[in-house]
Amino acid sequence: MDSQEFREKGKEVIDYIADYLENIRDRRVFPDKKPGFIRGLIPDAAPVKGEKWDDIFKDVEKVIMPGVTHWQSPHMHAYFPALTSYPSMLGEMISNAINCIGFTWASSPACTELEMIVMNWLGKMIGLPEDFLHRKDGDGGGVIQTTASECTLISLLAGRYIAIKMYEELYPGASKHEINGKLVAYCSDQAHSSVEKAALIGLVTLRYIECDENYSMRGDKLLNAIKADREEGLIPFWVCATLGTTGACAFDNLEEITEVCYNELLWCHVDAAYAGSAFICPEYRVWLKGIEKANSIAFNPSKWLMVHFDCTAMWVKNSSALHGAFNVNPLYLTHEYSGLAIDYMHWQIPLSKRFRALKLWFVIRNYGITGIQEHIRKGVRMAEQFESFVRNDSRFEIPAKRYLGLVVFRLVGDNIITEALCKRLNSRGNIHCVPANLKGKYVIRFTVTSPRTTLDDIIKDWKEIMKVADDVLRESDK
Ligand code: PLP
Repeated sequence: MDSQEFREKGKEVIDYIADYLENIRDRRVFPDKKPGFIRGLIPDAAPVKGEKWDDIFKDVEKVIMPGVTHWQSPHMHAYFPALTSYPSMLGEMISNAINCIGFTWASSPACTELEMIVMNWLGKMIGLPEDFLHRKDGDGGGVIQTTASECTLISLLAGRYIAIKMYEELYPGASKHEINGKLVAYCSDQAHSSVEKAALIGLVTLRYIECDENYSMRGDKLLNAIKADREEGLIPFWVCATLGTTGACAFDNLEEITEVCYNELLWCHVDAAYAGSAFICPEYRVWLKGIEKANSIAFNPSKWLMVHFDCTAMWVKNSSALHGAFNVNPLYLTHEYSGLAIDYMHWQIPLSKRFRALKLWFVIRNYGITGIQEHIRKGVRMAEQFESFVRNDSRFEIPAKRYLGLVVFRLVGDNIITEALCKRLNSRGNIHCVPANLKGKYVIRFTVTSPRTTLDDIIKDWKEIMKVADDVLRESDK
């Protein structure tokens, strides 16, 4: 493909994308396919000779789209959203054109510098204290990582680095491995599985703290667990507080937890993967109370902020802990300004880094703070609307308080009926939801945050749920 053909075909692709998104309601949100469905549709070896673009492009509709779960559909309510927007898409396109690899300042100065500035913008937008921002004489700052899971792991490794250093000084002669074997991390029993994964990779023990009746981790239970572990000769070193749990979007009590971590010298990481976007609206910042005593925080603009995956914002107060944890410095990566400019390779696990700040910059500039606030508030209003439909039908219950754009609901009665409802809804493909287990109760999670969602969409979803519930309840009565 030469640049002339790229100009022509690229414009066709732009039209295809705009049509796809405008008409996404016409597609079944959840595909009706079985594992291996593509195998029979494309050859099992690569073509020897290059193919024409038109033939390749035709296969997008023929082969790919029938097996796509349409995350941009207003009828997609599973997981947490992965919203996009046109300015973000344009940012991705330009980033793809440049395709620089920004591991050091010198490997593409604009990539590093834009990321620092946009992360400062975003940090201020959600009300983070100054010491999480890039400042002339400060050690804090923001970085764009791939995923929230990675941020959790990075913060655990940074906390581990500090704990090991501290204990080596206290107990000269103790080996790193000996200390590592005694380290204990903590999170609520509602925390995301990525916390468990981080502990598995870090080879540390993970203790789950039982949440309260609001699915929130509290300081007293955390402190008791820390004390009990210290009595056993173990070394508590790191806590993950969740703001917006995956199951019910519940909030750990950050003020209590950071107080405990601060007093007990534990690294406190805040996982606000989905809910972090809401902090752009001042009315939701009450959950951030106590953040000034935390060590790191992360959220995904790639979830609710309409920035394409991947884009996870992470801030740390103490970037030298990241440098310590990821301390490699081969000659081929040094440059004239090494040690003077930020080299993001010291802030992350991979060496290489995409130019992700562009899309975030475009979205923030194009919507402005007020435009983004309106988007967040609209998502919450839509969820409130759905919640009111569920509350007005006595066959259903909402077993956990609705927070932000997530409503969890179930049919009154045994788990098996709600499970049947969830499975039937997904098999029909008109809406897509996933379940969660809240203290033994099977619930259906319904997230509504798409900028495309209208009240009509919510009404249509609710009618579909009522219809399928009628069938499931009738069958369960037989
Ligand atoms: N933390 C929480 C609370 C989540 O809900 C999720 C995913 O939804 C994650 C972490 C993992 O996010 P990622 O896919 O960016 O690793």
